[in-house]
Amino acid sequence: MNYFFSLLICLIIFSCTRTETPKAVLPQKDTVITNPPGLSLESEITCPKCNFRKKEMMPTDQCLLKYTCTNCRAELYPDEKDCCVFCTYGTHKCPSKQ
Ligand SMILES: [Zn+2]
Ligand SMILES: [Zn+2]
Repeated sequence: MNYFFSLLICLIIFSCTRTETPKAVLPQKDTVITNPPGLSLESEITCPKCNFRKKEMMPTDQCLLKYTCTNCRAELYPDEKDCCVFCTYGTHKCPSKQ
């Protein structure tokens, strides 16, 4: 009888260790990409010749003095009072004017 009991206990311990609950996998936090506030580097240039609009990224290190319309191939130059084509034709002023 004693032998049977010890065998039973052994079986219980064995089954207990076997049925170990797997570690819960924590859901990874969604990384939210937020644009830094302030400067807007994207400007929509409107061609004065054909009214074609195109979004362009503005260079931060220089002013763009010449822009060729991708629709009618017209060469655009900034106004005398403006420093670059984005200031004249764009929806946003260039970074140096913001
Ligand atoms: Zn054009
Ligand atoms: Zn400018």
